[in-house]
Amino acid sequence: MSLIEIKNLTHIYSEGLPFEKIAIDNLNLNIEENEFIGLIGHTGSGKSTFIQHLNGLLKPSSGEIIVDGTKVDKSSSNLTELRKKIGLVFQYPEYQLFEETIERDIAFGPKNLDLDEDEVLKRVKSSMDSVGLQYETYKDKSPFELSGGLKRRVAIAGVLAMEPKVLILDEPTAGLDPRGRDEILGEIKSIHEKRKITVILVSHSMEDVAKIAERIIVMDKGKVFLDSNPREI
Ligand code: ATP
Ligand code: MG
Repeated sequence: MSLIEIKNLTHIYSEGLPFEKIAIDNLNLNIEENEFIGLIGHTGSGKSTFIQHLNGLLKPSSGEIIVDGTKVDKSSSNLTELRKKIGLVFQYPEYQLFEETIERDIAFGPKNLDLDEDEVLKRVKSSMDSVGLQYETYKDKSPFELSGGLKRRVAIAGVLAMEPKVLILDEPTAGLDPRGRDEILGEIKSIHEKRKITVILVSHSMEDVAKIAERIIVMDKGKVFLDSNPREI
């Protein structure tokens, strides 16, 4: 059994549209534990739609997704369990910041898991450390006043604090300068190595992902166009 099994997944957007848009087209894919996947493709190829399915945010038009042996069902209570396993950092990290301080923002998820306060604090510190944010310097700052790169780091730390089995990042380098881009890619690589978790890194850029991913999946028109080892491309 693979960690994630995607079987004949199709997603058609139709709500509010005068036509139907097939965003995911009969996609089949297995993802294993501890893989580092670079998911790339042109704009509109279906990357964001696909990863929202992995997180149970969308309902398939047809097909199914099985995570850790359990079928993802948007309408059922297994969504909370799913979100503990699959952490998704959105393309626009602003959507994930809602508390007044960085510490509270990152602690938000773990606090809802019935963990004791010491464990919550431990997770906040360790996930801030993983993205290069020093706890004492940043804990009381407002996440809304940060630069784009720092906002993204806080959003990643918030997801890591849930200690997921899979970390999915949608375009984490968008809008960053080359130095910021290299820093965040380096942090993602070290998160993968230290925490031994599956990473799915979504990007427009083959250059970004070829350096660090162990498996490259190229999407085109809602299908898997290429699935290979970067060293073989
Ligand atoms: P990008 O690289 O620009 O982020 P993407 O690969 O993430 O693109 P998606 O956002 O998944 O692609 O979009 C896939 C297709 O579905 C596109 O044609 C897009 O226009 C369409 N689409 C995405 N979201 C919606 C929506 N909410 N309603 C209707 N169509 C949508
Ligand atoms: Mg996208």
